[in-house]
Amino acid sequence: MRIRCNRCGKTATIQSSTQISDEFKQLYCCCTNPLCGHTFVMDLAFSHTLSPSAVDIPSEALERIRGASRGELRGMFKSLYPEMQQAR
Ligand SMILES: [Zn+2]
Repeated sequence: MRIRCNRCGKTATIQSSTQISDEFKQLYCCCTNPLCGHTFVMDLAFSHTLSPSAVDIPSEALERIRGASRGELRGMFKSLYPEMQQAR
């Protein structure tokens, strides 16, 4: 991950970090420009899911998915995410 100093625009390095929660981390950064020397904290936060995790799928549903054909999978996906069809 590339961090830029918001004072001089040069690259900054992450010196340490603190995991606040599963979806939020604070990054302690230091600018590499010796003429700047800015040290600062950046926030890193989870935004949203693009593709669901297999961890969140119940085991019985996972078995059904593993045994399904491509057509059956497409039908399942359409029923779960009808808004995705409108985006095309
Ligand atoms: Zn800087």
